[in-house]
Amino acid sequence: MLGNKILDELSSQIKAVSTEADLTALWHKYLGREGIIKAQIKALAQLPLEEKRQQGPLWQQIQEQAQALFDTRAAEIRATNEEAAWQAEAQSLGLVPVKLGHLHPITQTIRKLNELFIRLGYSIMEGPEIETDEFCFQRLNVPPDHPARDMQDTFYLEEPNVLLRTQTSSIEARVLANYAPPLKVVCPGRVYRNETVNKSNHFIFHHYQGVVVMPKVSLVDLFGTFTALFQAIYGPEVKIRFRNKYYPEVEPGVGPDMQCFNCHGTGCSVCKGVGWIEMGGAGLIHPKVLTMAGLDPREWHGFAFGLGLDRWAMASYNITDIRTLLGGNLGYKPYHHENIV
Ligand SMILES: [Zn+2]
Repeated sequence: MLGNKILDELSSQIKAVSTEADLTALWHKYLGREGIIKAQIKALAQLPLEEKRQQGPLWQQIQEQAQALFDTRAAEIRATNEEAAWQAEAQSLGLVPVKLGHLHPITQTIRKLNELFIRLGYSIMEGPEIETDEFCFQRLNVPPDHPARDMQDTFYLEEPNVLLRTQTSSIEARVLANYAPPLKVVCPGRVYRNETVNKSNHFIFHHYQGVVVMPKVSLVDLFGTFTALFQAIYGPEVKIRFRNKYYPEVEPGVGPDMQCFNCHGTGCSVCKGVGWIEMGGAGLIHPKVLTMAGLDPREWHGFAFGLGLDRWAMASYNITDIRTLLGGNLGYKPYHHENIV
C-alpha cells in the first residue's frame, strides 16, 4: 500500500537527519500543510463515500505513525546535543576523567599473602583486637612480670587483664587452645602498641601471624616457607637473611630480614643505614606454649611466625613512611620506583 511505502521512505530519511533544523524541514516535507501525507489525506475528499470511509482511518494511522517517528528522532537528537554540551563544558572547565579508587595497600598485601598460604594448605583465621592478658602474653610463655613485657608497650583497657592486642600471636594462642593438630593457620590483624609515631613506627600497625603444628617440624620447614613466601611476593631475585632473635614463645627464634627495597643494601633512611629491613619474627614453638595448649611437646612440634605487615606493604608499593598507610592522604604512587636517600 502507498501509505506503507511512504512510511518506509520516511523511516530511512529520518535516520540520516542529525539536526533539529533538518528534522523540522523533513517534517514539513511529510506532515506539513503541503506535505506528502497531508496531500494524500486531502485527496481523500475526491473519493466516493464508501472508499473515503475505508481509506480515511488508514491514512489517519499513517499520519500518527509518521508523527511518532519524528517524536522519537527528536528525542534522540536532543539527548546527543545535551551530551555534547556537557562534554564541551567539562573540557572548558579542565575536568579530568573520573579516576577509580584502589584497595588499600594493606588489604592488597593481606589478599596476596592469603592467596599464597591457601595454596600452601593453610586456613585463615581472625581473632579479637581486645584481648585478655592470658591469650596475648601468658599462653605465649610471657608470665606476669616477665621482662619480655617491656618490649611491648601495651595499651590496657582494664589493668591488668584487658588490653588491645600487641601482636597477632594472641590468635595463635587461641588457635592452639581451640583446634586439634595437625594444623596450618595464618591470621592477619591489626595490633596496637604505645609507640612514638615516626617514619618507621606507629601505634597502630598490622601483623600477619602463621602457625604450623605437625608431628615433625624443623627450622628447615620454616626457612623453606619463608623463602617461598619472599620469592612469591618480591620475585625470585629477592635477597633475604635470617638472624638469631629472642622471642619468649619460640625456641630458637629467628628474624627474617630483606635487603632494603629503597637502597638495595647501600644504606638509606628507610633501612636506617643498615641496608636490610626486619620483616618479622619466627621460630620453633616453645615446648611450654605447646604444653599450655594441652599438647605433648614430645608428640607435636611446630613453627610460628609474625610478619610486620606494614613493612611488607611498604616494600611492595615503595611507600617510605609508615604514616602514609593510616593517613587520609592517598597521594602516594603505588608503582613509582624513585629512590629517596
Ligand atoms: Zn635502605
